[in-house]
Amino acid sequence: MTLDPEVDLSKTYDAVIVGSGAAGGMAAHVLTSKGMKVLLLEAGKKLDIEQELRSMEWPYDNANRGFLPPDSHSLNFNEYTIRRPPYGPGFEKSKHLYSYIGSSDYTKNIVVDERENPYSGTNYAWVRARCLGGKTNIWGRLALRLSDYDFKAKDRDGYGENWPISYSDIAPYYDKVDLYLGITGVKENLDYLPDSIFQRPTKLNCAELTLKQGLQKMGRVLTQYRAGVTSDGLKHNKYRTRCYGRGACSRKGGCDIHAAFDSPTGLIYPAMDTGNLTLRPNSTVREVTVDPATGKASGVRFIDSQTMKDYRVKARVVIVAASTLESARLLLLSKSRQHPNGLANSSGHLGHNFCEHVMGPGITGRAKDLVGKPPTLDDGRPGGFYLTRFRNLKEKHPNFIRGYGFEGGSGSTMFPRGTDARGFGAAFKEEVRRNHGAYIEMGGFGEVLSRYENHVDLDPVVKDKWGIPALRFHYKFGDNERKMCEDMKETAKEMFEAAGFEILHVSDRMLTEGWSIHELGTARMGNDPKTSVLNQFEQSHDVKNLFVVDGSAFVNASCQNPTWTIMALCWRSCDYLAEEMKKGNL
Ligand SMILES: Cc1cc2nc3c(=O)[nH]c(=O)nc-3n(C[C@H](O)[C@H](O)[C@H](O)COP(=O)(O)OP(=O)(O)OC[C@H]3O[C@@H](n4cnc5c(N)ncnc54)[C@H](O)[C@@H]3O)c2cc1C
Ligand code: SF4
Repeated sequence: MTLDPEVDLSKTYDAVIVGSGAAGGMAAHVLTSKGMKVLLLEAGKKLDIEQELRSMEWPYDNANRGFLPPDSHSLNFNEYTIRRPPYGPGFEKSKHLYSYIGSSDYTKNIVVDERENPYSGTNYAWVRARCLGGKTNIWGRLALRLSDYDFKAKDRDGYGENWPISYSDIAPYYDKVDLYLGITGVKENLDYLPDSIFQRPTKLNCAELTLKQGLQKMGRVLTQYRAGVTSDGLKHNKYRTRCYGRGACSRKGGCDIHAAFDSPTGLIYPAMDTGNLTLRPNSTVREVTVDPATGKASGVRFIDSQTMKDYRVKARVVIVAASTLESARLLLLSKSRQHPNGLANSSGHLGHNFCEHVMGPGITGRAKDLVGKPPTLDDGRPGGFYLTRFRNLKEKHPNFIRGYGFEGGSGSTMFPRGTDARGFGAAFKEEVRRNHGAYIEMGGFGEVLSRYENHVDLDPVVKDKWGIPALRFHYKFGDNERKMCEDMKETAKEMFEAAGFEILHVSDRMLTEGWSIHELGTARMGNDPKTSVLNQFEQSHDVKNLFVVDGSAFVNASCQNPTWTIMALCWRSCDYLAEEMKKGNL
């Protein structure tokens, strides 16, 4: 596997892909495996990721005990909600400013420096990772499928639009993703949360099992964290190793033996081994160019992120995979005589119908019978549990539509969770030790409705370090989200009570818009070109040789984490793209 920064700009590639995260990596894998000559442009650096993550480093071996160096600052909740923009006045002392996710020494080079990458408008905690692999280097690994409860949600409650596909269209592609990348979990046979083809599951611990049993009486389901992690290994991929349960997942957010899926080792390096992929990091695409004669995409213009030099490259097909918000930004930037409102925007829906997940309400409790018990190894696994959606499945909730699930965990971990111990010295330490294996906590993730008025556009003044207009947010949670969050808080309490836990803390605070890092829906799919940007194969209705294969294509957010669906959809779209190319239709 070699890096090839010297791109042959005289050549017309079969396809150019913008962005190397989950979506761009998957497009590179599928298209190169079909023999297409592909150029992958990534705005960020190729990091020595093992050096960044250092999963086996003990906190006491790190100069800052794993936290940021003193000259750097990671934004907190109040800084997102009170200061506008969050990196405005008041932060002069900090040389580097990072999103709330960039709070450790291990992630600081993976997430962007907020000052170099500004944005404006309404409050939004926008987490970006500009490096090879994007956010997949540090994602939380929860890998869930959507079902027809999501794809056909309008049929159930009349709100929004149905997707132009059903579960049966995407199911074979979920299977392909499972088998190619590996996923752990347990079959539950739920029609609203279909099973994957699972590798060996992780184990639930004592308090988690107690909660599971408590919920069974209520007809609710708690299952092992379905992690996008290979627990049995993948014979076809020499860049990845099976999970050894080292417990660094939650501590550092990344896996330096690549048991957890990341786009470089899972998709891009194997694609480079085909000899069909050229990768150019440090390449910030600023425009998708169009042929003035046909209005079709002709390639892209990009800036070398380090030298600031401008380049153009030609391709028969352009695949935008820069992540939901960056993809919308790029298409809005790509104005031309034929496409005066931005590329692929004849519907006026580009940048609109922006949706995600709402987070915040959660609970911490204590399993009293575990207090004082010997410690167990509970962080030696890539996740705790997932408590599946139970609202608006059979019955209709009177106050809100759609649903939510909870992610959570319990047990002894390197850094004790949820401790309510007070004091200092030996007595304090003893108190922490006696209790820490008994804590259990969980937090909700709910569907934010897709609404036309929730949108992004280009700021007329603010520009990023490369002189490219910044994104401006016009985005707020609504009444449905607020009522859903009230319900999350109540049901969290009711479930912990049913399990017999002592309740220590209940949070009813909604976190800032953006906190879930699951932004979706700015170029939605649909059958009607007047109300959607893409068709069911993520192909632009307006520009036949333009595909947008990331979360932008989502019609609604569902409440399940999106990455596995992004990749399954992308695989399906790239199969279609390759067939259409063979037929000469692109
Ligand atoms: C801490 C964290 C936890 C998460 N947990 C989960 C989880 O448990 N489950 C789940 O499903 N999802 C989770 N996610 C979200 C998940 O990471 C994303 O859904 C996924 O990475 C999206 O893939 P993508 O390819 O669309 O975007 P990204 O992974 O962000 O990749 C986009 C790439 O495009 C590049 N790019 C952007 N603009 C340009 C440009 N103009 N030119 C060239 N390149 C460009 C970026 O540098 C980046 O590398 C989490 C994310 C984070 C950060
Ligand atoms: S627990 Fe497994 S997936 Fe997580 S960091 Fe350790 S080896 Fe990687």
